[in-house]
Amino acid sequence: MPEVLVIGAGPVGTTLAAELARRGVDVEIVERRPHAGDGSRAIGLHAPVLAALEAGGATDRILADAVRVSRGEARSDGTLLGVVRFDRLSVRHPYVATLPQARTEAALAVGAPAPRRGTAVTAVRVADADVRVRVTGARGDDELRAPIVVLAAGVGARDLVFRPDAVRRTSYPDRYLMSDADVPERPDAETAVVHLAAAGVLESFPLPDSRRRFVAWDTATAAAGSPDDADLDAPAARLARLRTALRERGEADAAETLTSATGFRVRRVLAPAMRRGRLVVIGDSAHEISPIGGQGMNLGLLDALTLAPLLAEWTRTGVEPATGLARWERDRLRSARTAGRMAAVNMRLGRPVSATTHALRGRTLGTALAATGSLVPHAYAMGLDAAAR
Ligand SMILES: Cc1cc2nc3c(=O)[nH]c(=O)nc-3n(C[C@H](O)[C@H](O)[C@H](O)COP(=O)(O)OP(=O)(O)OC[C@H]3O[C@@H](n4cnc5c(N)ncnc54)[C@H](O)[C@@H]3O)c2cc1C
Repeated sequence: MPEVLVIGAGPVGTTLAAELARRGVDVEIVERRPHAGDGSRAIGLHAPVLAALEAGGATDRILADAVRVSRGEARSDGTLLGVVRFDRLSVRHPYVATLPQARTEAALAVGAPAPRRGTAVTAVRVADADVRVRVTGARGDDELRAPIVVLAAGVGARDLVFRPDAVRRTSYPDRYLMSDADVPERPDAETAVVHLAAAGVLESFPLPDSRRRFVAWDTATAAAGSPDDADLDAPAARLARLRTALRERGEADAAETLTSATGFRVRRVLAPAMRRGRLVVIGDSAHEISPIGGQGMNLGLLDALTLAPLLAEWTRTGVEPATGLARWERDRLRSARTAGRMAAVNMRLGRPVSATTHALRGRTLGTALAATGSLVPHAYAMGLDAAAR
């Protein structure tokens, strides 16, 4: 029986396991997927995460491959509205490091135990002296036990530990299209650009190897489940809409390089608590943040990085660090609320508006960016997270 069992080998569970192993804790991971995923979701790592990952060596591995984005621009109809300067922040890593999620996960996994793959958790029960975890997989059904269990199994696993009505959920009407693509050489290759258009936002972020991530507000407005939905979600239709968005919103040169597009909807979900006795819940299982704002994975990584020393102390002394854990939980829930609010503001800023409102929005944003100095880059770079202080 390990001292700590982690459920889920996504970025958050892997990071926790690596940090616990580095501190001498006997830790195991169970993971439903038979192989590591290669789909790209999160691409940006922020300053507090890069600082906290230094001790375990992951920061150097990440920075060896990542693009260091030190500048963001807001543009509208080809005009520069304002600039966000990460390089003026007084932090150890004054940039956003961008890397596809699979490569980030590989960098985080060094030092973590290999997960027991193809093993899905079906039930979790907290007892007095341990936590019991029912699993099913190639080896059949089994029950695992550990004195401490951490659920880091993403959004789908939330129902294992929370009653659906106990979790606060907000669904947004917005839909987005996304693609990572090779792009022609450009002078602003290392600049993140947010194009504010009347038809909706288009985000354009640098990635390594002359690639960029494009995310566009999707003009297709059919409600989920409507008869039109299947057509709208056909791969060719999504690709065509994203290409149109690039042509019309300021990235025409890249439009033809796109080869596919995915679509996503957004929700904001916050669990009422992140621990019950010997069970702790972190990452997307505890809080789901709209990707518009790019903080969801960072939030989860900070959960893991701040939790690891507390769990290591618990296993070393045999005494639950109750005060430290209570403070940790309060800080993490507060940070999740802050990140959720920021993402909601970002989404509101990027919605379609009339031409008049669009012009006003551009002027207001330009003035606000100029007037607030480092406040906006500080907030985008997770400077408001409790772990950043
Ligand atoms: C389109 C998109 C773009 C995004 N961009 C960004 C970004 O730029 N920056 C950012 O910070 N965040 C971003 N995010 C959010 C980010 O991807 C998530 O916050 C992050 O992946 C959460 O990590 P996690 O480890 O908590 O969960 P996950 O990544 O979901 O990993 C959970 C793991 O648990 C496993 N699992 C699930 N159920 C079980 C079970 N029952 N038993 C065993 N194993 C199980 C899963 O297979 C998976 O491997 C984005 C999200 C999306 C959808």
